[in-house]
Amino acid sequence: MKQEAIPLPDDAAMAVERLERLVQREREGRLQAEAIAERGLRELYESQVRLALLQRITDCANRSNDFSEAIGEVLKEICEHMNWAFGTAYRVEGGGAAVSCDAWYTAEPAKLFPLVEATRDRTFPRGEGLPGRVLRDGHPHWIDETELAAHACRRIAAACCGVRSACGFPVLIGDEIVCVLEFFSHTSMLDKDAILLTVTQAATQLARVIERERARATLLHDALHDAMTGLPNRTLLDERSRAAFERLPESREGLAVLVIDLDGFKAINDKYGHHAGDIVLIETARRFDSVITARMGGRRRGDQASWRATLARVGGDEFVVVLDALPDPAIAMDLSGALIDALKAPILVADEYVNVGLSIGIAHSGTSYCSVEQLRQDADLAMYEAKSGGHGGVVTFSESLGNERRNRMALESELRDAIREKQFTLYYQPIFALGKAGANTGKLRGFEALIRWNHPDRGLVEPGRFIPAAEAGGLIVFIGDWVLRQACNAMARLHAEMTAQGLDPGELPYISINIAPQQFLQPTFSSHVQRVLLETGVPPELVRLEVTEGVAIIDPDQTRQVLEQVRSWGVKTSLDDFGTGYSSLSYLQNLPFDTLKIDRSFIASMDDPKSRKIIRAILDLASNLNLSVVAEGIETMEQGASLREMGCEYGQGYHLGRPLDEASAFALVWPEGTASAA
Ligand code: C2E
Ligand code: MG
Ligand code: MG
Repeated sequence: MKQEAIPLPDDAAMAVERLERLVQREREGRLQAEAIAERGLRELYESQVRLALLQRITDCANRSNDFSEAIGEVLKEICEHMNWAFGTAYRVEGGGAAVSCDAWYTAEPAKLFPLVEATRDRTFPRGEGLPGRVLRDGHPHWIDETELAAHACRRIAAACCGVRSACGFPVLIGDEIVCVLEFFSHTSMLDKDAILLTVTQAATQLARVIERERARATLLHDALHDAMTGLPNRTLLDERSRAAFERLPESREGLAVLVIDLDGFKAINDKYGHHAGDIVLIETARRFDSVITARMGGRRRGDQASWRATLARVGGDEFVVVLDALPDPAIAMDLSGALIDALKAPILVADEYVNVGLSIGIAHSGTSYCSVEQLRQDADLAMYEAKSGGHGGVVTFSESLGNERRNRMALESELRDAIREKQFTLYYQPIFALGKAGANTGKLRGFEALIRWNHPDRGLVEPGRFIPAAEAGGLIVFIGDWVLRQACNAMARLHAEMTAQGLDPGELPYISINIAPQQFLQPTFSSHVQRVLLETGVPPELVRLEVTEGVAIIDPDQTRQVLEQVRSWGVKTSLDDFGTGYSSLSYLQNLPFDTLKIDRSFIASMDDPKSRKIIRAILDLASNLNLSVVAEGIETMEQGASLREMGCEYGQGYHLGRPLDEASAFALVWPEGTASAA
């Protein structure tokens, strides 16, 4: 039996309706909650994906040693994450332009080829193209489909590749834009917030890589460059010159090393202070650099193969230039001349202009060199040769110079042994009064102490064979000290003996001692003389110190001071070899000498009227300046007679008496028939 639907009372119907509405609201609420949960989950997922991306980018930034290593990976990660078609980067050079660094990524290289080609090797000046605009404004830029089609400079390439939008981001260190990132997409870039978040954080990581790269570059630069002049230092020079030397066998070109030393730099430092010295070095480096750069540029413009140069500061006032791939050895000589010319204009220091000269030594690569260090040593040697002339200039190393140097070094080493083993001995050459046909004629007045080297194999060696080497090696100071002490000791003994024998003190002979410039200009020289006088007990007025003009040329002020000091104790002073050096009259006038010694070259050529005139002029000059005169090298009776006739007071020479050993020389002091008690 079919039951009839019983109509609900009104109240119940309303209750159902309410229930249905409630169910509906609940369903809607549940759906909303589900949607919210789903969105939350999606956002959570997306942020996790982004986090993972940023983590990978950070790892890559931490791992990378330089920008070019990191950028490729970062572009790939971003493009893949964003599903973008193409990403690339530009380095910003000097703030002026964005220069493509040839780092790019696309998942479809064949399809994107036109755009990649239109982008590689491109430079965008400030304000030009998308990278230029980012560079100008310092913030991201977006280009949509319409703008890309209308304005973008790579629109044809972009259109060919189906690209619809692009964006550019700056990579910043502080306020400085160091790089621009650029991305292209096949679709519109709608979610700008998410893009900003992701790419900006990636850019921050890239900035860290660039910062580290810069710090490393600064450290490296500092380690390889001289802090004062900014030139390469010895380490970088060694590195480059070794590499250049290794390239030599395969190239037909040569290698040359120039060692350059400033002349008189120490004097500038001493006179004006170290700050002034620094100014000179900086200015010198600047001038050298511009000369070399101009010359290298000139070569490059010409059709000759270009050569390279490394200019380095390797020590106080020492510079080295290594010329590599040199087509013609003459270039090294030309360049040296240009460097000397560059320093002709004086340098302003401490309100004064100073002149700086150069000594340059050049060595060219040849078959005999096994290393670039040998080449450097030879250039060094040539530089010393240039310097030893006293006027700087350029010397190119040659085999004979090398042999000379090797011999000198061997001699120096032998001299060291000779000093240690006391192989020196003194000879004494008598000096006589020539007199004016007066009472003193023929009287012995003194002796000149002359050193000999009693060589174990070569016998007695004359000073001309070893004094130059002793001077060059600085050993003359030790040898000269020994001579001073030995001669004063010998003379003190002789005087003591003569006085004991009752000889007139007025008749006691003096001792003349040669002093080398280096020895004389030692700061302690005069106090040393005083000590020797005191210790040996020789009467100071019977000691004469002979110096040549060399000392006055090196340092006239100090020469005068030392001469005045020793004279204040009664010691006499002689100017030796007069007429052979500068024969400067100003030295004669200004320096306190007692005696002038006419060099034996004038006496030897006395037959020539010109020489006689010179001797006469020297004698007049000496008489006006109140100096006594000793003529050196009188070999004949005629020479002695002529000199006596001209009024020359004293003489020494083989005719009057040869240098003799101590016993034979001192025997001359005893009047005929008497003898030394010793
Ligand atoms: P000097 O000081 O001009 O010494 C004179 C030189 O002339 C000596 O040569 C002497 O032997 C030589 N001589 C003297 N009379 C004649 C002569 O009639 N004819 C010729 N042909 N020569 C004569 P020596 O002993 O060979 O010395 C040469 C130079 O060596 C000296 O020239 C001096 O400059 C230097 N010398 C010698 N002993 C010393 C020393 O103890 N210390 C230093 N620093 N130099 C010294
Ligand atoms: Mg002498
Ligand atoms: Mg002399």
